[in-house]
Amino acid sequence: MWIVPESAIAGLVDEQSAFDAIEATFAAMSRGDAYNFPVVREALGEGRQYGFKSGLDRVGSLLGVKSGGYFPGNAARGIPNHQSTVFLFDPDSGKPTAMVGGNLLTALRTAAASSISIRHLARGDAKVLGMVGAGHQSAFQMRAAVRARAFEKVIGWNLHPEMLTRLAETAAELGLPFEAVDLDRLGAEADVIITITSSFDAILTDAQIRPGTHLACMGTDTKGKQEVEATLLTRASVFTDEVAQSVSIGEAQHAVAAGLLDEGAIAEIGAVINGVHPGRTSAEEITLFDGTGVGLQDLAVASKAVELAIAQGLAQQVAF
Ligand code: NAD
Repeated sequence: MWIVPESAIAGLVDEQSAFDAIEATFAAMSRGDAYNFPVVREALGEGRQYGFKSGLDRVGSLLGVKSGGYFPGNAARGIPNHQSTVFLFDPDSGKPTAMVGGNLLTALRTAAASSISIRHLARGDAKVLGMVGAGHQSAFQMRAAVRARAFEKVIGWNLHPEMLTRLAETAAELGLPFEAVDLDRLGAEADVIITITSSFDAILTDAQIRPGTHLACMGTDTKGKQEVEATLLTRASVFTDEVAQSVSIGEAQHAVAAGLLDEGAIAEIGAVINGVHPGRTSAEEITLFDGTGVGLQDLAVASKAVELAIAQGLAQQVAF
């Protein structure tokens, strides 16, 4: 069994390899070659959340689980609040094959998902990237997004304005101008909008979104969370990583529960990747990607990390 510690991941998996691994995973899910098992997520008290995301990719030969959660007391201990570890198993024998640090991989695979949605669904002439949210994930999201389109400017909004420095610094690192704006301006000027917050109420209203916009709604990954007004999903073409998660823990949960959106109207991004669904069909269409985060994403990037770590002599082998 191989061990790839968290400290080795940064030198192994980059944005491009995460993008390729996750795009292949979404394609495999849509072909029916891979599927996710039901998510387990439990509240442990004192704000702690713990759970498991798992799945099987028959063709890619992946079986495993990401175990982890949110531990708000960690910041005071000097370690990240989000903690996760990926365990991979041989799909034929069930024997464990690897244990991989999952913290950075989670950020990379989540950013890869929204970047894939931008590559496949945003207008080709998109120039302005709008960011809603300025937490830990937001920098990864921005770095991955600029690989999908030739953005010329980043604009951003955050509930806690003191956090906007993260967006400004990341845009500067990418050589792009950044401007903090209100939500009306963000909706009016952005061609692509990424939402990546912990909000439980709609932040962007339907009226703020103009025709032709692509939204990647990435923050809503739990029952009750919400980032955009539910009626927007009746005006947009809605895509997701996995429909079952989209309607239960994703952004679409609210529109579906309110009877505004039929589950059957939500398309898998994998179908677009595979050429089975046309994706965007006009410059005026609003496209919305509901990125809920699936276990197979974690297995795909963890497997890539193991492959690269073995090749570079960075994986530790233990008899198990
Ligand atoms: P973080 O704690 O570092 O940042 C939280 C962000 O949400 C900040 O921008 C904060 O200002 C904002 N925020 C907090 N409460 C808010 C509210 N009530 N209204 C509006 N904004 C609010 O978190 P992070 O690591 O950047 O993660 C952001 C979100 O992304 C979380 O909800 C997390 O669960 C989710 N996430 C999703 C996936 C996925 O695959 N879809 C993967 C990882 C994280």
